[in-house]
Amino acid sequence: MKHVVIVGGGFAGLNVAKSLGNSKEVRVTLIDKNNFQLFQPLLYQVAMGALNAGEIAYPLRIILSKYKNVTVLKGVVKTVDPRKKTVFTDFGDMQYDYLVLCCGSKHHYFGHNEWEEFAPGLKTIAQAAEIRRRVMEAFENAERTQDLAEKRKLLTFVIVGGGPTGVELAGSIGEMSRFFLSKYYKNIDSTLTRIFIVHSTERILQSFSPELSLKASRALENLGVQVWSCSLVTHIDADGIQVGNERIEAGTVLWAAGVRATSIGKTIGFATDSSGRILVGEDLSVIGSPEVFCGGDQAHFSLPDDNTLPGQASVALQEGDAIGKNILLDISGKSRKPFINRDKGQMATIGKHAAIAERGNVKLSGLPAWMIWLGVHIYYLSGAKHRLFVILQWAWSYFTFGHGARIVNKEWRFYSVVPELAEPTEREELVADPVCHYTRDSVSPNQIVSG
Ligand SMILES: Cc1cc2nc3c(=O)[nH]c(=O)nc-3n(C[C@H](O)[C@H](O)[C@H](O)COP(=O)(O)OP(=O)(O)OC[C@H]3O[C@@H](n4cnc5c(N)ncnc54)[C@H](O)[C@@H]3O)c2cc1C
Repeated sequence: MKHVVIVGGGFAGLNVAKSLGNSKEVRVTLIDKNNFQLFQPLLYQVAMGALNAGEIAYPLRIILSKYKNVTVLKGVVKTVDPRKKTVFTDFGDMQYDYLVLCCGSKHHYFGHNEWEEFAPGLKTIAQAAEIRRRVMEAFENAERTQDLAEKRKLLTFVIVGGGPTGVELAGSIGEMSRFFLSKYYKNIDSTLTRIFIVHSTERILQSFSPELSLKASRALENLGVQVWSCSLVTHIDADGIQVGNERIEAGTVLWAAGVRATSIGKTIGFATDSSGRILVGEDLSVIGSPEVFCGGDQAHFSLPDDNTLPGQASVALQEGDAIGKNILLDISGKSRKPFINRDKGQMATIGKHAAIAERGNVKLSGLPAWMIWLGVHIYYLSGAKHRLFVILQWAWSYFTFGHGARIVNKEWRFYSVVPELAEPTEREELVADPVCHYTRDSVSPNQIVSG
């Protein structure tokens, strides 16, 4: 039996294991830092206290228990020697016949790792817990203080980055402020809340059509969110952010601006793109190393039009499945098949009844898009119990705007700077989107704030 080692049990790695599961040709070892798969698309709901972490994380060994040939090991893969076909982990070395790298991505602060302390990103359960703590502490402190300026600052939230995660966080804070603050906090005037999305491009949700992106902006504005387009953040500290010559004093700053692939690809010496993604061929094997495959957010798969596949769960799932099938074809002496991604479309939610969904020429917004968003997320969530719990939680919140998991405890402060980020990275020049005809330095604030 050939030994297949999979690094990473996210969407891609898990699907590799499933497609090799119960094959008589291979034995599979899946190694992950965590012993669970995290459903990242719902992580923002944990951060906003709408769901508990346990509802979106599912143990890998339970998911893979029905496959006799698959073993799950919890550990960190440090590097790989492709010539000796050896994986080096924090629990020892391991030989492989085929290696599959599906290590995902991490936050990218464009060389300003010092910003992470003041503006945490959202990628792990610990980060979601920290964001929840900061947001809830801001509300609690605002309830207590008599100082109006301090209250205003505590009730100012800045989200850096206007992609789906930034929009989801801003929309949730907007809803919390409108429906939760006014109901449960007696000393807070919820109209004092200010929420900003600050992003460098001309419009938010850049991967969507301009029409849907505009609808999302309008929905956000209805929740009191101000969208600052073409705005490059130049400094972040404990009291707020700097955008060119303007300052926003804020109690809470969250980072949703950039990701790059985990650094292991570079450590091994594989060819990578500027985002650290490993270059793969049409069969998803690493260029120059046919027995090593790479999928999901860590892979750079070129399309005929010179674009690359986006970092999406649906791409990772399909790539994982295709890698497993290509390994089996290889072992049986047949030719590998080129990977073809089926576009499953994209979605983003802003709040109750407000979402956008796009697939080809089909563009939906409002309630229909929101219903599809709910259905798709429930469908892809692992475990029947989790699905039931999430449906119940959402139904409860929908009818009551209940407080879900919005409790906060100082002892939960277990988040620290992610070690991977602590490594020095080259400081990149922050550049404006070429489509932007103005920057925040060149015009007065009123001309830019949407609406
Ligand atoms: C907040 C958020 C919201 C998102 N929303 C959406 C959405 O709505 N729709 C959508 O399509 N996509 C969404 N995405 C993107 C989607 O989650 C990713 O594209 C997808 O998770 C990629 O899958 P993956 O298997 O490549 O990586 P991941 O799912 O990130 O899995 C990587 C795994 O590798 C493990 N790992 C990493 N390094 C090592 C190592 N050295 N040793 C051992 N294990 C290691 C990690 O622990 C992790 O389990 C979202 C992402 C985030 C962060």
